[in-house]
Formats: sequence, structure tokens, C-alpha cells
Amino acid sequence: MRKNINQKKMTIIFVSVVLAIAGVLLLLDYAYSPVDVIIDPGHGGKDVGAEYNGRYEKDDNLNISLKVSELLEKNGITVAMTRDKDKFISLEKRCRIANFRKAKIFVSIHRNSADNAKGVEIWISSKADDEETELAKKILNALSKVGISLDRGVKNGYAQGDGDYFINKHTKMSSCLVELGFINNEKDNELFDRNIDEYAKAIANAITEYLDKENG
Ligand SMILES: [Zn+2]
Repeated sequence: MRKNINQKKMTIIFVSVVLAIAGVLLLLDYAYSPVDVIIDPGHGGKDVGAEYNGRYEKDDNLNISLKVSELLEKNGITVAMTRDKDKFISLEKRCRIANFRKAKIFVSIHRNSADNAKGVEIWISSKADDEETELAKKILNALSKVGISLDRGVKNGYAQGDGDYFINKHTKMSSCLVELGFINNEKDNELFDRNIDEYAKAIANAITEYLDKENG
């Protein structure tokens, strides 16, 4: 009798362990399977990004990124986000995720901040190749068509001196950092709030077009 109970216990433990291992493998597969695109909402958690009258950049970045990601999936593109909630993720980890999942494209979404400035600009590496430049131009053109206060252009390097933005430097695929208007400019915020769905569609369609061309 006693032996039977032990056998039962052992069976339950064995089944639990097998299920746990299967679960972990499934999660690993989900987390590391290759994707076409990584959408990277800038900042998050304790890192709020730029701030203006109680408005945090991290929230704007996440809101539009979620929409872009959803639209890309609708377009049949595999996509992963570096964060899909208000959570701190280091720049190193963002790049690690992108490189691990062998993405073809990495798009980081931010909002700008500076005195007396307006408009949208996109940053690419100082050593950007034609592909990367084309990706950024496609996105900026699409945003311009929706309507922005100023097209500030596709820029190489880093806004505050020499070098590159960390994500442009440390991701292995074509990457760009979109600065979607200035958070301390009322007009840019108005445009962002009014056009968020159209901006998301513009970014998603530009990425889709770029990938179609690459695959075609
Ligand atoms: Zn930012």
C-alpha cells in the first residue's frame, strides 16, 4: 500500500518536471525565434525620457510602438518589441534582443526635446549603408505625407557630438532612431496626438515596403 502511494507521488513529480521543461522550451523558442522586425519603444520604467508638463516621452513612445507592431503583424510581418509595457530595459539588452532574433530591421521610436525646435528627424549610423539610409528615408517620407511641422531630414551620427546612438552602433541589422516631434513643442504634441494612428500606419507601411523590396 505504502509503495503504491510513493509510486503515485513519483509519477506526479515526473509529469510535473516534464511539463515544466516543455514549458521552458516553449518559452525559449518564443523568445528566441527569428523575426523580421524589432520595434523599440525608447526609454521605459524609471527612465522616463524627455518630459514636458507631466507628459513623459516613454509613454508616447510605447503608445505608438504598440500600434506599429500590431499593424506590421497585420501586414504579415513577424515582429518583436523590446518592451510592450512600462518597463526599464537597458540599451545593451535592446540590442541583444535584436541581434539574438536575427531581425532584418530595428526601429527605435523616440520623441525629441530642445528649445525652440520642431519637427521630425531620423538618426542612422555615421557608417550607414544604402539600405539603412533607404529605410530611414522611406519612414520619414511616409511621416511627412501624413503631416509634420518640419522635415528635419535623415541624419548620420549622434545629435550630441561624435559617434553614433548606442542602438545604431550595436545592432547588426539596418537600424534607425525616429524622433517623432518635440515633446516640449505644443504644436508637435498636438500633431502627435491627432495623427498617432496615421503615423503608426505610415511607419508600418514604410517598413513593409522596404522588406517587400528586399525580398522581391
Ligand atoms: Zn528618447
